[in-house]
Amino acid sequence: MKINIAIDGYSSCGKSTLAKLLSQKLAYNYIDTGAMYRSVTLYLVNEGLIKDGKIFKETVINALDKIDVTFQFNSSKNQSDTYLNGVNVEDEIRSPEISSLVSGISQLREVRQKLISLQQKMGEGKGIVMDGRDIGTAVLPNAEVKFFVTADLDVRSQRRYDELKSKGYEYSFDKVKENLLERDHNDTHREENPLVQAEDAILMDNTDLTIEELVAKSYEIVQAKLTK
Ligand code: C5P
Repeated sequence: MKINIAIDGYSSCGKSTLAKLLSQKLAYNYIDTGAMYRSVTLYLVNEGLIKDGKIFKETVINALDKIDVTFQFNSSKNQSDTYLNGVNVEDEIRSPEISSLVSGISQLREVRQKLISLQQKMGEGKGIVMDGRDIGTAVLPNAEVKFFVTADLDVRSQRRYDELKSKGYEYSFDKVKENLLERDHNDTHREENPLVQAEDAILMDNTDLTIEELVAKSYEIVQAKLTK
């Protein structure tokens, strides 16, 4: 039997790393829904449709039909890469510019409708680990296991700061923390599918856990469900 696993949480809380490792352990497909919102944002930036950080709703809506986001397995990395209209954008979508714009785009109802319907199709066959902000509440409300991942803001900021530094970006710790706070605020306060813990989600606070411990704990919970 295969099941679906929904993982939600704040920015840089460790949910994507958990989702990736858990999917590998279970031989399930991993779907990074944040990458899909980031790809839509990158398209708009590349086409000059976001100017000086200003987002025009109608322009975004008109562009949606021209945006195709897919995932393709990259065997050398043992994980899927994100493709925007056939081009690999896996690295580009993680830039600080896209991070600072994406939560403005993800609040638009039409953008969410398009991506949620794609995500629901991906989940139809089961055997999926999907991470995001609204997976347990809106995308896969019937997922058999739901996790809500949290960690201290300072711990999350430090992880994000280290990640950006390793990629060559020069940002101060405070700037990184500010971006996380802003995204958390936008994601929890938007009208459309705000980030909220699903009633039946299991809270996983990993402030004091290593990623190995977090994966082991989650894997145990999934196994218990599978053998029930
Ligand atoms: O997960 P990640 O940090 O890459 O997500 C980037 C942004 O995409 C989030 O800050 C949020 O605004 C948006 N997002 C969303 N719903 C999801 C996944 C991501 O609104 N399911």
